[in-house]
Amino acid sequence: MNTTTHTCPQCTLEDNHLQGSHHVCNICGYEWPSANADTPVDDDIIRDANGTPLSDGDTVMIIKDLKIKGGSNSLKVGTKIKNIRLRGGDHAVEAGSYMLKAEFLRKV
Ligand SMILES: [Zn+2]
Repeated sequence: MNTTTHTCPQCTLEDNHLQGSHHVCNICGYEWPSANADTPVDDDIIRDANGTPLSDGDTVMIIKDLKIKGGSNSLKVGTKIKNIRLRGGDHAVEAGSYMLKAEFLRKV
């Protein structure tokens, strides 16, 4: 079963049991959430090509020629786009009327 050792955050002893989605310390009675319980994923940070986190309103520069789907336009390397909006998903960054992948952008 679960062989992970859980240490009570309060008394630092390992004598505890799992009750529902919480660990309960047998010594001091402290309860804390199990790491195995469903926890919200806090990894929705969108990063540019350099790993810099992007935010709404940032200005980015295109680092790769990009063809725009369904249009004859393309975005050239070095094009700056102001006031981006983060949307999440595959094409995470809304830049004007374009939806772009963050990996092709660099924060300016
Ligand atoms: Zn304890």
